[in-house]
Amino acid sequence: MQEKEILQNLREKFSELYGDGDVALYFAPGRVNLIGEHTDYNGGHVFPCALTLGTYAAVRKRTDDKIRMASLNMNDAAIEEMTLGDYTNKAEGSWTNYPRGVIWAMSEKNFTIPTGFEVLYYGNIPAGSGLSSSASLEVLTALFIKDQYGFDAVEQLDLAFLGQTAESDFVGMKCGIMDQFASAMGKENAAMFLETDTMKFDYLPLKLDAAKIVITNSMVKHELASSEYNTRRSECESAVQDLQAKYDIKTLGELSPEQFEEGKELIADETKRKRAKHAVYENDRTIRAVEALKQNDIATFGKLMNESHVSLRDDYAVSCPEIDDLTSWAWEIDGVVGSRITGGGFGGCTVSIIKEAAVDTYKETAEKKYQEKYGKKPEFYVVDPGAGAHRISQ
Ligand code: ADP
Ligand code: MG
Repeated sequence: MQEKEILQNLREKFSELYGDGDVALYFAPGRVNLIGEHTDYNGGHVFPCALTLGTYAAVRKRTDDKIRMASLNMNDAAIEEMTLGDYTNKAEGSWTNYPRGVIWAMSEKNFTIPTGFEVLYYGNIPAGSGLSSSASLEVLTALFIKDQYGFDAVEQLDLAFLGQTAESDFVGMKCGIMDQFASAMGKENAAMFLETDTMKFDYLPLKLDAAKIVITNSMVKHELASSEYNTRRSECESAVQDLQAKYDIKTLGELSPEQFEEGKELIADETKRKRAKHAVYENDRTIRAVEALKQNDIATFGKLMNESHVSLRDDYAVSCPEIDDLTSWAWEIDGVVGSRITGGGFGGCTVSIIKEAAVDTYKETAEKKYQEKYGKKPEFYVVDPGAGAHRISQ
């Protein structure tokens, strides 16, 4: 569906649910991370771009203390109602935890909404596929609350922090800042090189030399991801503690691969050593990949993407057979510059950079082999970097 149709549908459904009247419309994108995976909560670098796929909201303030939320993607758009001030009551497993978490996170910063609102969401990112539908939902919610209630002190980058706080402290997924950052700060045709420990970042035009970004959805949902994700995070924290016997560091992102090699024996547990190795080398790869892109050397960029995958598969252990097959098949095809798992892992999507002339061959090959081996079809999205969260003028 085109944006125009999406918005028209959203308005119609909003009127059916909540009654006629003015509504305000907003959008926040999902993201794809090109390289720098599981580095954000390790104080390292990431290189994502926002997508043109994302989540939309139609919103109207109410005069009473009721908050009414519905999503066209969930339970036939059944309305979930809550009362102002009641937002610390978590409804376990409910999608409303994401927006509720944002309302809570904002109130913790004294951006407490004085009256309720009604909202209808619709997202066209496949949920649970590693393209961060959750971050887009959070950033979107923070944005419309800021805008509707006139919280001018909330800056665009704050939307990312508020979203992360919601996901990490309310939903319980101890995520880094990358997803929400990309959703809030995205820019058309540019990727973002972010240093997560300082939050310094640069926009880089994505000149891919007649190549496309192709996302392949394995259709494997990353359902167990949150507990495994939190485990990886604590394994890395524990490795840092071991390394502190030698290095004055707070995060793995502060170490070069050489320093890691000199100190790695301090990490007694072999699994934790592998996790730390990934975090350190992936950070270094990300810096080198961006350097290569600046030199228009996309071949090196692609090679580093492939190495990133191998490291995520073998050392960080966040891949799965379906995704490993998709990447291996891709690597064999002429014109595939690079291919790797993207997002938190345990399913979800691969991201590949593929020469335009080879995109069809890639899709046909991947679809055929995947169908044969797994009896289902992958989905493909050829994407361009899109803009960050914004209000849609009507
Ligand atoms: P990802 O962020 O990779 O898409 P997550 O598991 O982190 O996967 O987030 C997916 C969850 O976010 C969904 O299960 C749902 O609870 C919530 N969500 C995302 N998009 C929407 C939407 N449009 N409407 C309602 N809930 C949504
Ligand atoms: Mg998510």
